[in-house]
Amino acid sequence: MTTTTHISTQEAIALEDRYGAHNYHPLPVVLSKGEGVFLWDVEGKRYFDFLSAYSAVNQGHCHPRIIQALIEQAQTLTLTSRAFYNDKLGVFEKYITEYFGYDKVLMMNSGAEANETALKLARKWGYQKKGIPENKAIILAVKRNFHGRTLAIISASTDKTATKDFGPFIDGFQVIEYNDIAALETALQNPNVCGFWVEPIQGEAGVFVPDDGYLAKSAELCKKHNVLFMVDEVQTGVGRTGKLIASHHENVQPDMLILGKALSGGTYPVSAVLANDEVMLCIKPGEHGSTFGGNPLACAVAMAALQVVKDEKLTENAEKMGEMFRNRMRALMQRYPEKVSAVRGKGLLNAIDIKEKDGKTAWDVCLAMKEHGLLAKPTHGDKIRFAPPLIITESQMDEACSIIETVIANY
Ligand code: PLP
Repeated sequence: MTTTTHISTQEAIALEDRYGAHNYHPLPVVLSKGEGVFLWDVEGKRYFDFLSAYSAVNQGHCHPRIIQALIEQAQTLTLTSRAFYNDKLGVFEKYITEYFGYDKVLMMNSGAEANETALKLARKWGYQKKGIPENKAIILAVKRNFHGRTLAIISASTDKTATKDFGPFIDGFQVIEYNDIAALETALQNPNVCGFWVEPIQGEAGVFVPDDGYLAKSAELCKKHNVLFMVDEVQTGVGRTGKLIASHHENVQPDMLILGKALSGGTYPVSAVLANDEVMLCIKPGEHGSTFGGNPLACAVAMAALQVVKDEKLTENAEKMGEMFRNRMRALMQRYPEKVSAVRGKGLLNAIDIKEKDGKTAWDVCLAMKEHGLLAKPTHGDKIRFAPPLIITESQMDEACSIIETVIANY
């Protein structure tokens, strides 16, 4: 069988079930085409994509400009490794550092790798610049964090599903409450703390937005205690929350900015850590890297992906469409308080909480939305995250909200 052979929904699901690891629990829909805010299944049915591959497709599916950049670069040069220079990396490094306002960038591939990179950089800086005694560095993380699936990262996780039977874990993390300045201030008294590692909005946990002022106050306390403020914007960055990065809602420029997902334009994995020289130059040749990190194909794609965000004013659109979405969902919650218990989010990263009714859960709501032509996924049981591509128009948002309203009304 070739990949172009047409297969049915049942056949595709059976194949994944039989030959793939069972490490995900997908909604039973088999997708074969994407364009803009839409996806199509193998039977030709069209859906609004309200997940955007966990916010990796901010620019919309198969954006022509990003695909063009991919094709042109793929026909020219794809991978050299960092054993040699290539003609795209430096150009992109200049572009992305100016775009986000940092001295330097370190390119990786996945979000998890970018977070691993940030952890290593923070430790190096802690020993070399802060003078922490050898092997004593502590990184502060928060409860219900999500930074990826690697061993170091899950060592700081408080999610039993992510950690059970994966021990032993890596030392050097202290987990504190999220959105709790007093807890942070207490933990920062330890002189061996080198970094505070946090999502500006907790995406996977269910789109938890901290109180106004939390990020700004955290940044200020980190500065006071000579600790790096390491912000994981893998899900929130690149326009998603109505600002270029969510930290900008509080005018914060993190010491380390961790990006992934939408840097790729939903096309080819690209992730990055941005920092200033005092931090980034702590890592010397041979101490960290990745065969694929910073390859010319990734650079060409990411450059186009970032240009599209700027040229099409996607950040501004995320802000506007997000307001519209939350207004509609708040009205829905008022109409059906016995079904919807919360609406929260910023820009186009939003969630609603579903109250279980007659044994029906958020999963059933997602199945019903699928039937009505809208794809979204529950997270942590009763929460449904809604994160469409940032290119969504007002009339598309109107249609999508009507689908959600119909499903909630009838469940
Ligand atoms: N950090 C955050 C905030 C995320 O939401 C995710 C993925 O959902 C990651 C890191 C991990 O990214 P990846 O799946 O590309 O490793």
